[in-house]
Amino acid sequence: MTSYDVVIVGARPAGASLAARLGKRGRSVLLLDRAKFPSLPSVPSSPALHAGAMKILDEMGVPESSYAHSGAKMRTFAVQVGSHFSTVIPMYEAWGRDYAYGIDRQLFDDVLWKHAGTFPSVTRREEFAVTDLVQENGQVAGVIGAAGDGALETIRARVVVGADGRFSLVARKVSAEVVEENAKFLATVYYADWENVAPLFDGDEGAHVFTTARGLDVPMFRMPGGRMNVNLHIRADRVDIQGDADTYYHETLRSHPEVWRRLEGARRVSPIFGIKKIGNGYRKASGPGWVLTGDALHYKDPVDGQGIYDALLETRELDPLLDQFLDGKLAWDEAMRRYWEAVQAGTHAMFEQTQLRLQRELYSEPPALVMKTMMRWLLTDEAYQKRFIHYLTRYLPDDRLMTPGVMAGAIVRGVGRDISRLWRRKR
Ligand SMILES: Cc1cc2nc3c(=O)[nH]c(=O)nc-3n(C[C@H](O)[C@H](O)[C@H](O)COP(=O)(O)OP(=O)(O)OC[C@H]3O[C@@H](n4cnc5c(N)ncnc54)[C@H](O)[C@@H]3O)c2cc1C
Repeated sequence: MTSYDVVIVGARPAGASLAARLGKRGRSVLLLDRAKFPSLPSVPSSPALHAGAMKILDEMGVPESSYAHSGAKMRTFAVQVGSHFSTVIPMYEAWGRDYAYGIDRQLFDDVLWKHAGTFPSVTRREEFAVTDLVQENGQVAGVIGAAGDGALETIRARVVVGADGRFSLVARKVSAEVVEENAKFLATVYYADWENVAPLFDGDEGAHVFTTARGLDVPMFRMPGGRMNVNLHIRADRVDIQGDADTYYHETLRSHPEVWRRLEGARRVSPIFGIKKIGNGYRKASGPGWVLTGDALHYKDPVDGQGIYDALLETRELDPLLDQFLDGKLAWDEAMRRYWEAVQAGTHAMFEQTQLRLQRELYSEPPALVMKTMMRWLLTDEAYQKRFIHYLTRYLPDDRLMTPGVMAGAIVRGVGRDISRLWRRKR
């Protein structure tokens, strides 16, 4: 029977990055995925990749040129609030980059899969579906699964890692309970890729988010090949597609002239993907012989585009702890205690902010007067705009987007700008 130091179930951002890191140390790793690469992830995902995630990819030795496409570089982030106001936020520099990318997940995930394969101690098997875990004396000791229609195989390992996404089989098999969940502010997403989308303005090179501030955002991201990824991000309790996602998606876009203006001469070139009531939470991270990482451990709404970053961050933390455990330098419980602490320290403040954004931006309905004044003052304030980009790119030391000081400063400056504008007009 074959045996490895570590078997990793799932080979996209979390699994492939962990395999590469352990492979670099010479650990014997089996990286499994039921998918064949290149392919899209089975859980739908939009394509935004920010400078913070690119910095971790740099550390791993995954060059920008391998996953980036110049046509999908985003240098600005335009925000349009109903018909009230709009603003164009520059992608302020963070971690040495002043841009983000729209990525093709087929290409991106394949780059990571291939990168893991460059380490001789990493064995990869695609189209291998894990169906169960080997459990002995209260300890996970391997996986059971099959390649395609092949016979069931039992593969032993000292550690089994569940990097198998938000509907993790590994988590189910070990009954990893959800230890924190926000079930109150849920969103549903539908999206598709389009061609020939009209620019928002002359020289437009960016992302664009239109918001009704009434439970609907429409984020648009540039994609390789001149395409645009157009999303509906909707408060989940308001979605009723009546069995027809296609009509719902198109009718919703058509009903907002600010968005449709960009799309009426364009053509949808992909199927419509969707995910309903996107959960937000954490599962128990580990137990005897098993550990979760990536979305299997911590899943959340995509409004802040942090999923890939969090997966890369979590595996960066997990790698040295697994290595020390395998060397006998660290007891399993201590290694896993440190892992959980590192995951919380690295992700929880952002998670809280994402929940606040969902509440504020999808679930509250500010009066028009507030949108025209306070919201405008805030979103057009240069200091806030910079903070917003640094928040998204994980460049803020505390991951906190909004503080009373930030709000107060933006409002005072906004009032000042309005007064001087009125004064100039009067003169
Ligand atoms: C609508 C939406 C939009 C998003 N947009 C963004 C964004 O713009 N930017 C961003 O950074 N993040 C985004 N995310 C989040 C991002 O997609 C995830 O955080 C990221 O893919 C997590 O990576 P992962 O490796 O943990 O899991 P996944 O990418 O889900 O990969 C899990 C892998 O496990 C494999 N697997 C599962 N079960 C088994 C099994 N039994 N046997 C073998 N293999 C198995 C699957 O085939 C899959 O390949 C978005 C998410 C959603 C839902």
